[in-house]
Amino acid sequence: MTAEHTLADGLAASSQPVDDVLAEIAEMRVDDLDWRGGRAFSLVYNSDDADLARLEHSVADSFLHENALNPLRYRTLLRMEIELIEAAQRLLGGTAGSGSLSSGGTESIFLAVYTAREWARERGIERPRIVTAETAHPAFAKACHYLDVDQTRVSLGGDGRVDVDAVLAAVDAATCLLVASAPCYPYGVVDPVADIAAAAQERDLLCHVDACLGGWLLPFWERIGRPVEPWDFRVEGVTSISADIHKYGYVFKGVSTIQYRDPAMAKRQLFWFEDWPGGLYASQTTAGTRPAPPIAAAWAVLSHLGYEGYERLARRVATATDGFLAAIAAVDGLAVTYPPDMSVFEFGPEEGSEVDIVAVADHMDATGWALDRQPGGLHVMLSPGHDRAVNQFAADLADAVANGTRSGAAAVPYASVPGSNPGSAASG
Ligand SMILES: *Cc1c(COP(=O)(O)O)cnc(C)c1O
Repeated sequence: MTAEHTLADGLAASSQPVDDVLAEIAEMRVDDLDWRGGRAFSLVYNSDDADLARLEHSVADSFLHENALNPLRYRTLLRMEIELIEAAQRLLGGTAGSGSLSSGGTESIFLAVYTAREWARERGIERPRIVTAETAHPAFAKACHYLDVDQTRVSLGGDGRVDVDAVLAAVDAATCLLVASAPCYPYGVVDPVADIAAAAQERDLLCHVDACLGGWLLPFWERIGRPVEPWDFRVEGVTSISADIHKYGYVFKGVSTIQYRDPAMAKRQLFWFEDWPGGLYASQTTAGTRPAPPIAAAWAVLSHLGYEGYERLARRVATATDGFLAAIAAVDGLAVTYPPDMSVFEFGPEEGSEVDIVAVADHMDATGWALDRQPGGLHVMLSPGHDRAVNQFAADLADAVANGTRSGAAAVPYASVPGSNPGSAASG
């Protein structure tokens, strides 16, 4: 079934039958990461819920071709978007605030940095600065790079959370925004949001909480009785929050929220262009044409799950987290780098241990696991579906530490580098 002509040679002269194209794609995909078996992490948030899958496929299919660029033409999408923003604001401890749906965490963070920059420029700061932990997601560095904003990255305390004194020491006359993560991606620990937000408020600065990862899990984590330090709009001084619905909201890719405490701050996002022969062009986010399926699916999934469903899934994530942490603790020579506040963490060699973590990673890869490699160890991010994989993980990890040897294979980078050499990169 392999076509002799590939797209890399340009378009084929004649049309190819639909079934041939589908068969070719199926063949291309055989070596792709299988996320359904509970051995993959971080790139896919597997709810492992057949009803949810049916709902998402059905809704996505029916909204496939609509365009959320002009919501006045698609009033259902407008209504869904407004309701999603309201639901997110309440979930995040706010009341009547405002925000928007974006395509993902990176865009939400971009918009938060953009509004902070505009706010700072109104105060006469031409080149503003933001202060983040060194663990803050690279989306902040990317936003600063695009937007001509400076970023000071400060060190961590002994528990992996940002050192608040270091944050304060980094504040200068150009600083407009302090950032906290809830939690940070590398270690899954929540920064001391209350302290950072209080410091921001005292100095008349903005405070953004990056809850891209935790925004759709921590509220339910708290409701099922797990300890959660205050981190959302219930904390005075928090001015904006990013939260990805396409992570622990269990919706497929392409939907996140950026929420503001003060609706006037959200208005800074609005782009308005009237001087065009095509007419008025107004937009709140960076994209023009926007896909409808992520919006419609988010509305459907939130409506379906409710608190009950999200708590049920949070319990499964908690069970998986306890199981994976216990499996790591049971192996001599391994330890979690920082005790996590959620379902995300790094583990590596215990202090003084001889364990070769690269050999462990290679052995786990060879056994069908796909643990991400970080400079300090291996990264684990758990979804509901991982609760079925705990025993296998424990057995394979013990075996990897006892028998693992380096394979010499190149590690997969956490990067997206399309173009000249697509074979060498993973999408992140
Ligand atoms: C995933 C993530 C982001 C970026 O989100 P994308 O949806 O990948 O653009 C930002 N911050 C944290 C903590 C994240 O985990």
